Amino acid sequence: MKKTYQGSCHCGSVKFEADVDLAGGTFKCNCSICYKSRAWLAPVQAGDFRLKSGEESLRDYQFGPRRIHHLFCTNCGVRPFSRGKDGKGNDSYAVRVNCLEGVDEQALVDAPVKYFDMRNDDFKTPPAETRHL
Ligand SMILES: [Zn+2]
Repeated sequence: MKKTYQGSCHCGSVKFEADVDLAGGTFKCNCSICYKSRAWLAPVQAGDFRLKSGEESLRDYQFGPRRIHHLFCTNCGVRPFSRGKDGKGNDSYAVRVNCLEGVDEQALVDAPVKYFDMRNDDFKTPPAETRHL
């Protein structure tokens, strides 16, 4: 079930609100940016995401096929969410689970994690080893 969370970067310049279903699934990925920034993400549809403040503090970073906007706070460097398009071309977001405030610890422990092997451009098969992600 979706729950409304407040989220922010570390310094608090960037604040957002998102309706997230943690029990519905989170994901980790082994692509270069997720790996280097230790991403743990939850998918959020465009209508369930609201940027409250800090638009001016966000800087966009893109690489490779430039499908995803890897936004980060220019003050503290934290990446509270990223933005892209879903399979149908609609806006979609991925919020950092660790940037959500007031999350019950048990809800994080219980949240299912799906692993993507995007290092090998494979969305369907999880990587053979995931413990280090
Ligand atoms: Zn910040």
